[in-house]
Amino acid sequence: MACLSGSKNLKDLSKEELSALVREYGEPSYRAGQIYRWLFARGVDTIDSMTDLPQQMRERLKKEGFHLKLPETVATERSNDGTIKVVLRLLDGSLVESVLIPDERRLTLCVSTQTGCNLGCRFCKTASFKRCRNLSLSELVAQVEIARKLKQKEPALRQYHRITNIVIMGMGEPLNNLDEVLRFIKVLTDPSAMGYSPRRITLSTAGIIPALKTLLKSTRINLAISLNATDERTRTFLMPVNRRYPMKKLLRILRYSPLLKRRSLTIEYVLIRDVNDSKEDARRLAEILRGVRCKVNLIALNPFEGCPFSPPDEASVERFRNILEGCGLTVLVRKSRGRDILAACGQLGARMDKTS
Ligand code: SAH
Repeated sequence: MACLSGSKNLKDLSKEELSALVREYGEPSYRAGQIYRWLFARGVDTIDSMTDLPQQMRERLKKEGFHLKLPETVATERSNDGTIKVVLRLLDGSLVESVLIPDERRLTLCVSTQTGCNLGCRFCKTASFKRCRNLSLSELVAQVEIARKLKQKEPALRQYHRITNIVIMGMGEPLNNLDEVLRFIKVLTDPSAMGYSPRRITLSTAGIIPALKTLLKSTRINLAISLNATDERTRTFLMPVNRRYPMKKLLRILRYSPLLKRRSLTIEYVLIRDVNDSKEDARRLAEILRGVRCKVNLIALNPFEGCPFSPPDEASVERFRNILEGCGLTVLVRKSRGRDILAACGQLGARMDKTS
């Protein structure tokens, strides 16, 4: 088994791999469940914290290079609206960011799934960071653990019993890291691991169709689709991935898939001045969403250094919203949180340009 050599985070092993490991060590099979609970329910970060494992087993794990090291927190930035951005340095030196967003009753954690992104969406800062690799299960889980630890320490977050919601919409395209993201969702929702209800988890995607189909079949979490345009040409201009997975095919799935029935679907639409914010766009958006059971999240573009676009003024956002509502759609104009610390949508990865 390849995982037995070299340095390896124990939290990257699947349940099956843990069972194989336990067998190989000549330990009774219940040890695999024991380790799994230590790793994902209690969230330990040293091998020695697993106190009911035999000493000799713990020693062997360490000797074989297994560890539970967490990424290092290199910065914790607090916005004046309460949002907190955490910059993490992974063991290979890559930097990723997670964002904690307190709202009245909710404390939402936004998790990154890649160290950059290769989709090349023109309005997104993360796209400029192309040296991109997928995060592993242990790196995904670590973001939750580090945010939990931070929550315990932060006086402003004391009122929250726990992180209530997880949104998989940070840096990267989660469906381009499908295997690890699916394993992450399993750990998040498994009652014997982190125990979140799938209704408290939302994944946002630019619409990688084959992976989307797999996701819908294998999980019950909520879905957010970044649409951002109302015709193929504009969408391809803004999001080159549209060439491969055209909007029309995506909308067909959203309209007809029976797997979407029992979960919430959000259509995300970044409003960009003079690109996709006209009255015609609003009407066309209502038209193409006919028969799709969803709500629409409008968000004015968050600009960043070097961004070629500008956000529309407030009046245009209102006009856009009114047209959609007039067509019977449920619309939310999303407040941008954490803009002052570059933690808002589309701004993640900004810091890395300075440090790399
Ligand atoms: N790749 C995934 C998740 C990351 S982006 C996706 O495309 O959904 C998360 C959300 O932020 C998406 O809805 C995206 O359209 C939005 N976004 C990206 N750049 C933005 C910007 N500059 N201003 C506002 N929203 C942005």
